[in-house]
Amino acid sequence: MPIRLFDTLSRTEKELRPAAPGTPFGMYCCGPTVYGPAHIGNFRTFLIQDTLRRALELDGLAVKHVRNLTDVDDKTIRSSMKEGVSLKAFTDKWTAKFHADCDALNMQRPAVEPSAVEHIPHQIRMIEKLVARGHAYVAADGSVYFKVCTCHDYGKLAHIDRSKLQTQNENSAGAANAADEYDRESVADFALWKAWKPEDGPNKWDSPWGPGRPGWHIECSAMSIEYLGETFDLHGGGVDLCFPHHENEIAQSECATGKKDFSRHWFHSEHLMVDGAKMSKSLGNLYTLDDLKAKGASPMAVRYALISGHYRTQLNFTLKSLEDAASALEKIERAAERLLAKAGLEKADFLPPAVHEKNTAWGSYLPAWEALQNDLNVPAALGKVFSALPNANRPELSPADARADLSGLAKILFALGIRLFTTEKKAEEIPSDVAGLGARRWAAKQAKDFAGADALRLELEKLGWKSLDRKDGYSLVRL
Ligand code: AMP
Ligand code: ZN
Repeated sequence: MPIRLFDTLSRTEKELRPAAPGTPFGMYCCGPTVYGPAHIGNFRTFLIQDTLRRALELDGLAVKHVRNLTDVDDKTIRSSMKEGVSLKAFTDKWTAKFHADCDALNMQRPAVEPSAVEHIPHQIRMIEKLVARGHAYVAADGSVYFKVCTCHDYGKLAHIDRSKLQTQNENSAGAANAADEYDRESVADFALWKAWKPEDGPNKWDSPWGPGRPGWHIECSAMSIEYLGETFDLHGGGVDLCFPHHENEIAQSECATGKKDFSRHWFHSEHLMVDGAKMSKSLGNLYTLDDLKAKGASPMAVRYALISGHYRTQLNFTLKSLEDAASALEKIERAAERLLAKAGLEKADFLPPAVHEKNTAWGSYLPAWEALQNDLNVPAALGKVFSALPNANRPELSPADARADLSGLAKILFALGIRLFTTEKKAEEIPSDVAGLGARRWAAKQAKDFAGADALRLELEKLGWKSLDRKDGYSLVRL
């Protein structure tokens, strides 16, 4: 059965399949504005998208995931000028930081990660089309605006009444400026091209309308169409992007191409709250991954905590939720260790599944997968994982059943992006006498002194510890 997911536009659950069988599933996600470290709210949305992509791959689909980098807007321009560095040097630095955080959170890299600055010609071509077709007009200062009244189904995504439209907050990078207010024919119209202003400094590009830079919304239309075609399978972002950003993307794209169904599916994830409030610097509740690492959290626990709520409800993050995530991960690791032992396998054998291949061995973990297929219900899937874990304790569990459970567990954890055994026990958590015995035992084993190694094993057991050996090393765990 294919994955079913709620679609914001039709307000129904729909099955996820590529439009043409056998072609990759085209998925566009609005990416970060690279002017500082992404916060954990941003990562909630990116992790949910990563989880969806993984689930689709596990379902046997080839996914073409495109996620842009917003590297030109008011925030990036202002911040780079304040630092006295070029826009490129500034955004390169924050892009590298974003990538490092994504890797730590075990997010798959998108197939294409287009930069807005590198696609200015594409955006200009699209604006030219909109002007030629009568959907956009040039204001006195050389800015270009989209004429909302020419788009008859404007408002269809956010389900809003066009006649009641108030002025648009141009984008996340700040409200429309005074010049915009003056030059626009209607308060509902939004900027496609912004004429250069002195405060933009050296950041300007030539266009048929004079020097300036693109508005924010147009970059996603131009780049999604460039890499996925004029219509594609799914478009995602946080709920704040539904209006006006995505509504405007639909209007621009469908008016420029003349084709309906710019994206066949709209996927929005609800926001992360912190301690019951919206995250903000002034409240002191805005966390980055580094902030949480400094508090001793592992990136895997952060990932677990951020995906553990359903994407269609707000999730309240607390530091306690990180502790809960860490202890949940430990429980899963313990069960996996028991299954590995029953199956006669080692930790190194606990590998992610081969995706795009139908592998039907789920063991006790099929209900978890079914929960994920049902509107990407991560909390229900985790609940089913925890119902299945005790199976590992059954004395009568056969090696074959243990292998089936391991296969199912590896697959569900792949979809959730959870890697086990990433954090070895910290040295200080292992008593020094135990650590010493462990090291001597490993050295004896390496020297093929098996009698000596056995004696040390017994000593370790007397202290309540055992060594889990791999080809390349060992970990000490409590019995
Ligand atoms: P930005 O870098 O501001 O363009 O945002 C990147 C992504 O993070 C977008 O998909 C936003 O919708 C999303 N986002 C922003 N704040 C939050 C939040 N508190 N919770 C979840 N997602 C968020
Ligand atoms: Zn976008």
